[in-house]
Amino acid sequence: MAISRIDLGGAGSPEALVKRILQVEPNLSVPVPIQEMCARLGIFRIEDLDADEFEGGLVTNAKRSEGTILAKRGGEPRRRFTIAHELGHFLMAHHIPDQPGRFLCKSSDLRRLTAKEGDQRQRREVEANRFASLMLMPPHLLRGAMAAFPEPDLHHVLALARDFGVGKETAARAYVQYHPERIAIVVAGNGRVQRCYRSLSFPAIICAVGSPVPVHSLYHSSSHRPDIPSDRAACSPDLWVDVKRDLRAPVIYEQVYLQLNGFAMILLRLEPVPEESAEERRLEESWRYRFHSGRR
Ligand SMILES: [Zn+2]
Repeated sequence: MAISRIDLGGAGSPEALVKRILQVEPNLSVPVPIQEMCARLGIFRIEDLDADEFEGGLVTNAKRSEGTILAKRGGEPRRRFTIAHELGHFLMAHHIPDQPGRFLCKSSDLRRLTAKEGDQRQRREVEANRFASLMLMPPHLLRGAMAAFPEPDLHHVLALARDFGVGKETAARAYVQYHPERIAIVVAGNGRVQRCYRSLSFPAIICAVGSPVPVHSLYHSSSHRPDIPSDRAACSPDLWVDVKRDLRAPVIYEQVYLQLNGFAMILLRLEPVPEESAEERRLEESWRYRFHSGRR
């Protein structure tokens, strides 16, 4: 690996930083060697963090000439994301910690995707997460991996998580963001909706966070085998999205992945409503005409 701090120049946003890194390291291997990258960029130690309420931390100086990352012990994918997130704080000079020289991040910070307007702390957490996702799943490599599987399928989300060394939910977020189809992934825990990720073209999901997974969802089927994604099945679209009465209802397919610990992902795929054909419209109009004119 050849990257050094000089290569990053004045890049300040997550996207600009990752772009520079990928220019210098076009042949990054997968899983991305994040610890080696840290060492090249001024993080000389990665230590275990023993504090229940925090997931990760960074100790550094005001000039950011060097730093130590702290990461909670646990699964490797989670730890890799924490390390990449803290590297993001380290490389973004405008990220000012709450206490001088010391960032401490909770697990809710590591999941944060949006920030309240004007909340600088939330904004920097969102940026560190964007940096971590882009760095661990570089878009050109992700695109290549996804091109092999055009049909939306949770098997592919699991394969991406395994190959890129990231958590299933991190892979799910990127999958939904980059997949060309209209899809969403609902993350459930113990029967309740925890988080929803959807592509830009997928309508808003009507189940609020914290509400139970709809009773008629495939999720509640008794035929699931743990750790194996189910087959896909059509469901009533109004379980998940608002269906206008006077429009044709879209078709939604569900696929469910259930873990023994109660974590689940539900993939929703929305099929576009087929355009009414000219023939159908002509027939409907002639029926309406006959109805109103009293003819048979
Ligand atoms: Zn953070």
